[in-house]
Amino acid sequence: MSESTWGFETRAIHAGQEPDEATGAITVPIHLATTFVQPAPGQPRGYEYSRTSNPTRAALERSVAGLEGAAHGFAFASGMAAEDALVGMLRPGDHVVLGNDAYGGTFRLIARVYGERGIEWSAVDLTDAAALADALRPETRQVWIETPTNPMLTVVDIAATAGAAHSVGAHLVVDNTFATPYLQNPLGLGADVVVHSSTKYLGGHSDVVGGFIAVDDDGLAEQLAFVQNAAGAVPSPFDCYLLLRGIKTLGVRMDRHCDNAVEVASYLDDHPAVARVLYPGLVDHPGHQVATRQMSGFGGMVSCILTGGEAAAVAAVSSTRVFQLAESLGAVESLIEQPSTMTHLSVADSPLAVDPGLIRLSVGIESIDDLLADLDQALR
Ligand SMILES: *Cc1c(COP(=O)(O)O)cnc(C)c1O
Repeated sequence: MSESTWGFETRAIHAGQEPDEATGAITVPIHLATTFVQPAPGQPRGYEYSRTSNPTRAALERSVAGLEGAAHGFAFASGMAAEDALVGMLRPGDHVVLGNDAYGGTFRLIARVYGERGIEWSAVDLTDAAALADALRPETRQVWIETPTNPMLTVVDIAATAGAAHSVGAHLVVDNTFATPYLQNPLGLGADVVVHSSTKYLGGHSDVVGGFIAVDDDGLAEQLAFVQNAAGAVPSPFDCYLLLRGIKTLGVRMDRHCDNAVEVASYLDDHPAVARVLYPGLVDHPGHQVATRQMSGFGGMVSCILTGGEAAAVAAVSSTRVFQLAESLGAVESLIEQPSTMTHLSVADSPLAVDPGLIRLSVGIESIDDLLADLDQALR
């Protein structure tokens, strides 16, 4: 047996997570040491200082890189720290294209933090090939996509967008947080960089904030290793351990997230209080065909617009009992929220503003009957 031929679940449990050589411990030890003794000056055994590299973090980096089919992986203290490492590679005058329903934090980082330092940006509808072609410039260095997007669950064609980005020499960065490597492998579809908020499905238990970057290109990997060490936004060994633990069950969790989300989406689709359901698994979703081609399941996120608008959205998210009213997503617990006042408040007056009648559900892995009964009593 070798890692390269292993199936996803085998890699999730074993790749990067071999038994500890020194003790035989079956789980990766939490290496808290900040420094490592050197046998001779300047000749470390492999590790020297934990910001630069740490054995628990190295295990996590091998694990997630393996799941993405990437040659290199870099763990960060948060999804935003990972994104900052990528956008931070740009110089004044460089241009970035992002989706017009990008994650609010991504928009804020590119438009507010880096926009004020001379980085140019355009937010466009990435499902519109002509709009993307119009937005691309000779100075475009990065095209950022999420698919499915947050909170509209729009599906973007990764292979086609990679082709467009490469035509002007830009890198395609795919935020794979919603799909996870279990459902979608962007590097295999032509993307140059995969970024994750590992806070979500990779961790999966609402108890750790983290970020990740996976790349194949050796030159990009060298730059990222430099930035990771030079800027130092690294996760703690304990955080890395929690992620390694979460990742072991990623496959089975995603199967249940997907099954439950399909049921929730079709329930909402038939509900008179619901004007429109946004879920790529529904055959009338505009991205259904592309999703079927590039994903192996439709994910655990479902959004919908209520016929009663803002008041109905506030009432619904305030009256569920199993679905908890909270931001974030991707964990075993079902969550519900109103993006316009919560996750997407920071983009209220931007091209990314969302309908106040929209609610977003992160469908967890509880018993489906309880989830449907909960929505039933909340949506009356
Ligand atoms: C949460 C999230 C991020 C940001 O990650 P943090 O871990 O919260 O810093 C980026 N992209 C997407 C799609 C997210 O859901």
